[in-house]
Formats: sequence, structure tokens, C-alpha cells
Amino acid sequence: MESVKSCSSDWPCAALSSADLGPRTTLKVGGVVEWLVEPKSPEELVAAVAHAREAELEVRVLGGGANLLIVPEELPGCVISTELLNRTFRPTDLEAGGELEGSDAPLSRVAPEVVSDDPRLVLWAGARLQGLVRTAYQLGLRGAELLSGVPGHVGGALAMNAGSRDWGFWDQVERVWLLDPATGEVSERAREECSPTYRNGHLEGKIALACVLRFEPDDKAVLKAEADEYLRAKCAAQPVTERSAGCVWKNPDPELSDGRGAGKLVDDLGLTGLRRGDAMVSPQHGNFVLNAGGATGGEVLGLIEEVEARVREATGIELAREVCLWESMNGGEE
Ligand SMILES: Cc1cc2nc3c(=O)[nH]c(=O)nc-3n(C[C@H](O)[C@H](O)[C@H](O)COP(=O)(O)OP(=O)(O)OC[C@H]3O[C@@H](n4cnc5c(N)ncnc54)[C@H](O)[C@@H]3O)c2cc1C
Repeated sequence: MESVKSCSSDWPCAALSSADLGPRTTLKVGGVVEWLVEPKSPEELVAAVAHAREAELEVRVLGGGANLLIVPEELPGCVISTELLNRTFRPTDLEAGGELEGSDAPLSRVAPEVVSDDPRLVLWAGARLQGLVRTAYQLGLRGAELLSGVPGHVGGALAMNAGSRDWGFWDQVERVWLLDPATGEVSERAREECSPTYRNGHLEGKIALACVLRFEPDDKAVLKAEADEYLRAKCAAQPVTERSAGCVWKNPDPELSDGRGAGKLVDDLGLTGLRRGDAMVSPQHGNFVLNAGGATGGEVLGLIEEVEARVREATGIELAREVCLWESMNGGEE
């Protein structure tokens, strides 16, 4: 690993050198990164990225680590975490100002008891998806209940277009603020200017700072009941309490797979329970690879590749990965 850069004390926000990333992922697998940086406002994040650019450090962004496999044991550069960007606001004055501020003004914080007719929320990149589900039903806003039980942050959900088979996070997006790490430029984009697809927000290397989501007013009790029911169904079908990175593969074109999802394809080939070291295909759901002990990134990746090869051989279907990989020492990300 390269020696620590001399910019150590110059970060414009909290920064930790030689930080272990494993505990910050839901799979609990990850290497040690040269710098882990934790801005507490979008402005600090922009400043941290500018600092990394000046120091010629490679930049990666980490949300809740819920769809991520970190393969190498050592990672050069810096990882910007959105852990401290956990804020949700009502957009009271957004139309007037239109700017994303680091402080509360001109945005007002969400308080469920304060009545507002505006069916929108402003969320910073580190806002938690489960907090969003709760806030939305408490305010009587329909549109977040399908995220019930989905871990991670809003920035990760924008990057992944998290959701279900027929619904994605971007369905609720009105606009986003994006930072281009190469130039430092922050742009505000309307939903119509973006091109999200199934499980891919197509951020094209940009960092999501915040977004405005638009919902439909609805009955609070009905929404809570629906969110509870989605959570119950999810817990029954998926290994949500195990250490995983969520679904490893996207569902293939139903015409090629006779309507079978990726998990069913893996299941039908008898691959559930397959192991490589401590990495194991979940016995409960073929689309989840578990860390059943002290699995390494290499073991998890090896198992993923083996399953892909077996599916390809047996069905001719090329499974596309949903899980993001931080794979190579020189920054390759899938
Ligand atoms: C038990 C379990 C169940 C799950 N169920 C679902 C489900 O039903 N539906 C679903 O879609 N997903 C599901 N997932 C996957 C995961 O919850 C989502 O993909 C979630 O959106 C990931 O968000 P995150 O903040 O954890 O992203 P991370 O895992 O931290 O990052 C994922 C990718 O997004 C990038 N990224 C993160 N933040 C930003 C940002 N601010 N700007 C730009 N890029 C960024 C990262 O660099 C990385 O490439 C599940 C995961 C688990 C563990």
C-alpha cells in the first residue's frame, strides 16, 4: 500500500486513515482504505472531493454498503461516506431559493405534526431508506412503502435505482443535485434530464448530493399497513437478517428465462447452499450470497463467478450483476 499522503490534516471534514471498510457493508467484507472521509453537509462533501482531486487521490462513494462487494484487502485513495448526511427536509422555500444549503435554511426540517400540503421531501444523500419509509407514511405520503426492508442510503438508491421489479426509486424523483468529481461542478437536474433504468440510476460517475422526491397524499394508516406487509413478505422470502449484499444478479429478460428470476434460475440448478470458503449461496434465496463466517472478498467473488458459469452452461443465460464491485487496485468498479 502506498504511503499516507501528506495532506492528512488538511481534509475539510472528519477523515480517518487506514480505515477498515468491512464493518460498513452489510456483507461485512471489505478491505482497508487509505482514507475514509465523512462530510456532514453537501458543502463539506464538495470540499472533500476538491481536496482529494488536488491530492490526486482516487475517489469512491460509500452509502450504507448494502449493495457492495469490496474485493481487495487494501484500497488506495479515499472513500467518501454519506453516513453523516442523514437529513430529510420539507421543501418549503425551495421554489423561491432553489438552492441546496448546508444549513436548515431555506429548507425546513420534517416534523410529522406540522401540516403541509406540499407532497414532497428533500433528502440529503445519507438519508436512510428506512427513515424515509417511516417519514412518508407518518406524513401520509404514498411512494416510499415499496422500500420497506430495503437497507441503504438515498444516494445509493439513486445510484442503483433501488426498488422492486416494477418500481424504482427514480419513479419518485423530481430533481437531483449531482457533483462531478472530475471538475467539482455541482449541477441540478430535473428527472426528465436523467435516464435511469432497471437497477441503474446512470449517474455516470457523478456523486448524488441530494434529491427532491414527489409523493401522492394518502391515508397514513393504509400506508403503514402496506409498508408492514411488504416488510413481512420480504422477511419471509429473503435472508434479510443474514450478512449479504442484497441481490447479486439482476433478473434476466423473462423471455429468455421462461419468466424465472435470477434467484429461481440458481435455485432450479440446485446451487443454493453452494460454498466457497465462508461464502455461501443462501439456502433461502438463490439470488443472495451470504458471508457465513469470515468470508473474504475473493471467496465471495469466486462463488459469484462459479454460479454465473454454471447458469451459463446449463441455460445459455448470461446473468448481469446487480451488486457493485470495488474490484481492482486501480479503481475498477462494475
Ligand atoms: C437484505 C437486503 C435486501 C435488499 N433488498 C433490496 C430490494 O428489495 N431492492 C433493491 O433495489 N435493493 C435491495 N438491496 C440492495 C440495497 O439495499 C440497495 O441497492 C440500496 O439502494 C443500496 O444503497 P447503499 O447506500 O447501501 O449503497 P452502497 O452499497 O453504499 O453503494 C452502492 C453503489 O452506489 C454508489 N453510491 C452510493 N452512494 C452514492 C452517492 N451518493 N452518489 C453516487 N453513487 C453512490 C456506490 O459507490 C456503489 O457503486 C438489498 C440489500 C440487502 C442487504
